[in-house]
Amino acid sequence: MLMNGQQYVESLKKMRPNVYKWGNLIEDVTTNPATRLHVKSVALSYDAAFDPERAPIFTAKSHLTGERAHRWNTFMGSAEAVVGNAQMKRAQYRMTGTCQGATCAGWTGLNVLWEVTAKMDKDLGTAYHERLKKYFRYVEDHALALAGAITDAKGNRALKPSQQTNKMQNLHVVETLPDGIVISGYKVQICGVAACHEIIVVPGSGYGESEKDFCFAAAVPRDAEGLTCVETRRPSDARDEEEGWDAPEAGNITQAFLLFDKVFVPNDRVFMNGEFKYSGMLIGHFAAIYRAAIGACVAGQGDVMIGAAINMARANGLTQKTFQTTLTQMAVNNEITYGLGLGAIIAGKQQTAGLFVPDALLAHTNKTQVAKLPYENKVMAQDISGGIAETGCFPSYKDFQSPVYGQQLLECLTAGADGESRARAARLVEWLTVGGGIPGCMHGGGSPDGAKLVVKAATKWEALTADAKRIAGITADLSEPKK
Ligand SMILES: Cc1cc2nc3c(=O)[nH]c(=O)nc-3n(C[C@H](O)[C@H](O)[C@H](O)COP(=O)(O)OP(=O)(O)OC[C@H]3O[C@@H](n4cnc5c(N)ncnc54)[C@H](O)[C@@H]3O)c2cc1C
Repeated sequence: MLMNGQQYVESLKKMRPNVYKWGNLIEDVTTNPATRLHVKSVALSYDAAFDPERAPIFTAKSHLTGERAHRWNTFMGSAEAVVGNAQMKRAQYRMTGTCQGATCAGWTGLNVLWEVTAKMDKDLGTAYHERLKKYFRYVEDHALALAGAITDAKGNRALKPSQQTNKMQNLHVVETLPDGIVISGYKVQICGVAACHEIIVVPGSGYGESEKDFCFAAAVPRDAEGLTCVETRRPSDARDEEEGWDAPEAGNITQAFLLFDKVFVPNDRVFMNGEFKYSGMLIGHFAAIYRAAIGACVAGQGDVMIGAAINMARANGLTQKTFQTTLTQMAVNNEITYGLGLGAIIAGKQQTAGLFVPDALLAHTNKTQVAKLPYENKVMAQDISGGIAETGCFPSYKDFQSPVYGQQLLECLTAGADGESRARAARLVEWLTVGGGIPGCMHGGGSPDGAKLVVKAATKWEALTADAKRIAGITADLSEPKK
């Protein structure tokens, strides 16, 4: 089924309010200043399904019904489908200037569970795959937006979940009942919760038997009884809580802490319960898909940054040409993460049950660049823009309205363009480079150090030294020196 933006907004309004911010309950996520812009961004993605130009990117053919569905409700069973994921993410950034968590991690989780449930059923004789298939169909039929919750609060990073003094720091199964499971604990930094209908919950890592209670996967409605969501954006990110040109109608990322207190999940929404041996496979496939596509997200934001920096240069009275070398470097950085992600997809492989998984070495290499190049672009965008685009060097919109000094402030701003245009251009660069517009480049999609561990494990070091020895004509033993 396809839903338009307005229908999507209406569907969110029907949900039980359980999202909080500033200590208060948000009665309506579609109108509250803390969340409405993220909802608005996602609504634009829903609308894109009805725009002939964008529909090929924002929709795809359902592998269950053959009908068109929102792309984030469909199965990634080919390289083309995963490339579609990357293309949609870049397009979403170009459209709204922000990340759209409600059409991202949950979708990936759902896809990965397709493969993992099939594998568990084959090896163990469980019956998870049919459930997952039914749920997948439900998601498509209701055109749902899904957040994905992997990251636990964790507690002491040097200890496993079962070793923590407070078990709540990691989401776990408290009780398995005949008709479902009861779960408690914390998932944190989860993107797009306020704008989603449901949350796909999976283990925070690949675990062994001692962590069995933490190895489960489930679909939980965002408004489930016992679940409290706390929005975490700071005021500096929340432009919509300001006024005038301080509050552009650009998208806004939202993040939440999820506090599960004995939430009951019926069996038809449980896709793993204690099968710890498959948690590593789940995380591995998830990371490969996610880290291939994340290069497109940051490239999309880099695209907006380039445009914003050129606008700023012009508003300052300078030409694009003045900064062309820097701008070209920004474009190169964008295409590196985008292209590396596409490369990972092309080098990927279809799995037994049909999921297409990008090449791990390339996908994780991409994550190391995603944690670096967008930051270089931010430095360059600020360099081009001048001090007014850096935080703290710019009066607020309210000050410009002052009958005492507002007009003089506006005169201070007038340069290559009128004061208001220059103010708007500066606010966008500021938001993209030091505000809430910064996507999760460093830790979003996992830490770069974790990605480097995969690069280390997947690189065939001995094969490389053997080739270099042969090319150099070395015949002596050059094994690792003994300590
Ligand atoms: C913008 C944004 C969006 C996000 N969206 C989502 C989302 O939608 N869903 C979701 O599930 N998560 C999401 N996350 C969370 C993200 O996946 C985590 O931030 C990431 O996995 C890192 O975990 P952490 O923040 O707990 O950092 P930590 O685990 O505390 O890591 C901090 C540093 O310590 C290192 N480290 C950690 N443990 C060890 C150890 N035992 N030994 C040695 N070094 C260690 C890490 O490599 C890293 O360098 C998002 C994060 C951001 C920033």
